[in-house]
Amino acid sequence: MTAPSEQSQDAAVARIEEEAVRITQELIRIDSTNYGDGTGPGEREAAEYVVGLLREVGLEPTYLESEPGRASVVVRVEGSDRARPGLIIHGHLDVVPADAADWSVDPFSGEIRDGMIWGRGAVDMKDMDGMILANLRHLARTGTKPPRDVVFAFFADEEAGSTLGAHWVATHHPELFEGCTEAISEVGGYSITLPERGTGRPVRAYLLQTAEKGFAWIRIRAAGRAGHGSVPNDENAIVRLARAIDRIDAHEWPAEYVASVRTLFDSITELTGVERDDANIEAFLPLLGGARQFVSGTLRDSANLTMLTAGYKNNVIPGSAEAAIDCRFLPGHQDLMLETIRELAGEHVELIVDQLGIPLDAPRSGPFVDAMREAILAEDPGAHLLPYCLSAGTDNKALKRLGIDGYGFAPLQLPADLDFAPLFHGIDERVPVEGVKFGARVLRRLIETC
Ligand SMILES: [Zn+2]
Repeated sequence: MTAPSEQSQDAAVARIEEEAVRITQELIRIDSTNYGDGTGPGEREAAEYVVGLLREVGLEPTYLESEPGRASVVVRVEGSDRARPGLIIHGHLDVVPADAADWSVDPFSGEIRDGMIWGRGAVDMKDMDGMILANLRHLARTGTKPPRDVVFAFFADEEAGSTLGAHWVATHHPELFEGCTEAISEVGGYSITLPERGTGRPVRAYLLQTAEKGFAWIRIRAAGRAGHGSVPNDENAIVRLARAIDRIDAHEWPAEYVASVRTLFDSITELTGVERDDANIEAFLPLLGGARQFVSGTLRDSANLTMLTAGYKNNVIPGSAEAAIDCRFLPGHQDLMLETIRELAGEHVELIVDQLGIPLDAPRSGPFVDAMREAILAEDPGAHLLPYCLSAGTDNKALKRLGIDGYGFAPLQLPADLDFAPLFHGIDERVPVEGVKFGARVLRRLIETC
């Protein structure tokens, strides 16, 4: 016979799981598309829904709008030892656009099909929002105190560089994060499945994001001699721009394995017995399964051309021409990368930096990393927690400005054959129901032991 306390524990966990799934679905049904140009619906409706869920259990969250409709929500739960530094658990409320014509289901339906929750935001990151909210409601309902203060935050505008979300809140309301030293959010904590050394038996590893690349969103602008389209012109701005683009695109950025990447690769070799050949790293990467795309972007700096603007009439040579480049650099590479682009662009081409995002590199060991590992192992004994570097950026960049070390830890247990990374911003974005329930349980354990 089960003791009553165990029974009520089980009931509490079942309720957290059920709420995590339901809240994920309900958040997906609220369109919070961020087009990046201020034309979207904003996060107000999603944020008001979050506030409603929190008020229902007696919490009084802080509701903030950086601009009309661009809403973030923050609430602090006091810990039993208030002298200890606090932890921030955060998610973003916006999503990238989804074109319904491309999808198998309505991207804002949140429906469950084949054991998955489908819809925009299912993995990025309304699933984590759902897990966080379910756990936060549990804390409030039961009066449970985490061992230290935990600040829960739901931000606007992550998908457009966080300017109106995490950066705005960190700048205008840093007091909300007073005393906090660590944070968790996307993109990490999900599982990959590896063949175990010797036996070939499947073994799960959860990837903890300890580092992320920085970004520089830049433009290169070529200047030339404007003139009539019938007159020979050897100072054509479009030609100068095209040559600069060609040189930048042809540049081979040297491979360099930063510490988080090296540790990941070495751990995988240790677990699987598969030795990597740095001259043929492409043969090693498939071991990473669903994380392959994220990891393949962290082996070197990269510069992708994304926009082009030049000219206005076929018989007029314009005086300038412009291209946008999305530059992503490893920790420590910012100056070198911009200098290299400047050199490759050549004379007559000016470089304009529109937005910079710092790279992150958090400690890969210590008590908090141990707590995350223990929380995973309690739910998946025999699994491993491995560090990795993310090629993209997250809201943790904004919190780092306040001295807070951010980790990607949105726990999900995934089927071995799920190609996870392409679901982010992808068509038919979806997340396993059981994965969300697992993540909610891991988060509960982490909050109790952090
Ligand atoms: Zn995201």
